[in-house]
Amino acid sequence: MSTPATHETGSGDYTLFDVEERVLRDAEEMVRKLDEVARGVRDLAEAYRRSYREQSRLVRLSDRMQEELQEANQGLTAQADELRDLNSVLRTEIEERERLAMELQRLATIDELTGLFGRRHFMHLAERELARRHRTRGPVTAVMLDLDRFKHINDSHGHAVGDTVLRAMGEVLRGALRTLDLAGRLGGEEFAVLLPDTPLTCGQHIAERLREATAVCAVGLPDGGTVTFTASFGVAEHEPDESLDSLLHRADNALYEAKRTGRNRVVTAAPVTGGAA
Ligand code: GH3
Ligand code: MG
Ligand code: MG
Repeated sequence: MSTPATHETGSGDYTLFDVEERVLRDAEEMVRKLDEVARGVRDLAEAYRRSYREQSRLVRLSDRMQEELQEANQGLTAQADELRDLNSVLRTEIEERERLAMELQRLATIDELTGLFGRRHFMHLAERELARRHRTRGPVTAVMLDLDRFKHINDSHGHAVGDTVLRAMGEVLRGALRTLDLAGRLGGEEFAVLLPDTPLTCGQHIAERLREATAVCAVGLPDGGTVTFTASFGVAEHEPDESLDSLLHRADNALYEAKRTGRNRVVTAAPVTGGAA
């Protein structure tokens, strides 16, 4: 059984039972707790809203960054394509330059008409051969040759036929010589050959073989006929410590002698210290 209680309010006195008083206190307590829960829910909702806003912001940022990355990627791909194109242009340019350099090198070393070495390169290689000979002391023989009455061939059949004869002379030399022999066109219708590891007697035989091969060579004419030609030869064996100029000069003197004594001949040079052979 509950006992009555007095409760003072602003508007008057009321008397309540203990139970009712407790119920009211409990109710008030519950309301207070509900307020707390409501505040908590409000805070939670606010936190959730904030987190949602932040998440949306991050998603937007990530989208924008993805777009920017995609753009940057496209830019890089385009640049890579450009570089690849540029690279291919450069490679073509380099190949062309290398081809030109090789062509220049070929032009500087090879006589275009005959395919033999040009004068300068022949002299260079011959100097090198003599330097090597200086070390090994092996024999070296030089042969100078000049087409006979070549002017007459030009005058009778034209310059183009003359050129064909010069080409044929180049083929005769290339066909008859060994790989290590040097053959050059010194100018006009004058040629020189350097025979490494070749003593004078062998050199004479080789020159004779070249003379015969030249004499049986026939070049076709535009009218269907053919023209034959001959050459005169001077042979000289290199002497110890002799310069290339001196060696070729002696071979040239022998060649001059071959011309003087009838052409289409092989004449051997006098040694530096002795009389004519
Ligand atoms: P020889 O028997 O005394 O050597 O008489 P040759 O007529 O051969 O000698 P010459 O020096 O009188 O004439 C050489 C000629 O070679 C004159 C020149 O026009 C010609 N010649 C020089 N270079 C070339 C060339 O590249 N092509 C042609 N077709 N002729 C050339
Ligand atoms: Mg001549
Ligand atoms: Mg000549």
